[in-house]
Amino acid sequence: MMKKMMISAMAAMMLMAPQTALAKTQKTVYLTFDDGPSRNTLKVLNILDKNHVKGTFFVTGQQPQCFPYIKMMAQKGHAIGLHTYSHNYAKVYASVNAFNKDLDQIQKVVVKETGHQSKLVRFPGGTNNTVSRHYGYKVMTKLTRSMNAQGYNYIDWNVETGDATGRLLSPTQLAKNACVPMKNVVILMHDTSAKDNTVKALPMIIQYYKDRGYTFKKVNANTRCRFKPAN
Ligand code: ZN
Repeated sequence: MMKKMMISAMAAMMLMAPQTALAKTQKTVYLTFDDGPSRNTLKVLNILDKNHVKGTFFVTGQQPQCFPYIKMMAQKGHAIGLHTYSHNYAKVYASVNAFNKDLDQIQKVVVKETGHQSKLVRFPGGTNNTVSRHYGYKVMTKLTRSMNAQGYNYIDWNVETGDATGRLLSPTQLAKNACVPMKNVVILMHDTSAKDNTVKALPMIIQYYKDRGYTFKKVNANTRCRFKPAN
């Protein structure tokens, strides 16, 4: 009886082992940082380095004095995406042409800093932002088509820390919001000078996903996480 139980237990373990390994490889987390570079970029880069994980930065042109950090992001092996130069909704969502012009402006900065074009885009406010409708008729639908036609991959998110809400959330609360045990997680965070609590939350977020066997990945041309266009 005892022997039989032991054998069944062993059989169960043998059956479970490969499944656990498989499950581990299947869980993916993408750490994404919008609105940088900023005076917090260096801190974010150091935390990612220390934890041996890579992230994706969707950059803007809002702090030209921080542009050298874009070069550093690339040197450290992180992915860089475009988040428009101005991040000004009235300007970028006025028309497809206006958006493309602004996108080219930040593309030029990225090329200057890294020597490479980026084919990744995150729309300010996301594809589902409802503010855009005040500026351009069906502009989000048109923009998604324009991005696809130009070979850009636009990416939204499915988890957010909440660091962009008006209310200042504690690092613990931000981490709690960002830790969701889904199979594929794309986390939205912000890399601006005001987001000190995001920097403090980041190690907790990384630890949570490490403890659960997630693979940390950078956004690439094939990464899909898209909202339906808001208009
Ligand atoms: Zn943004």
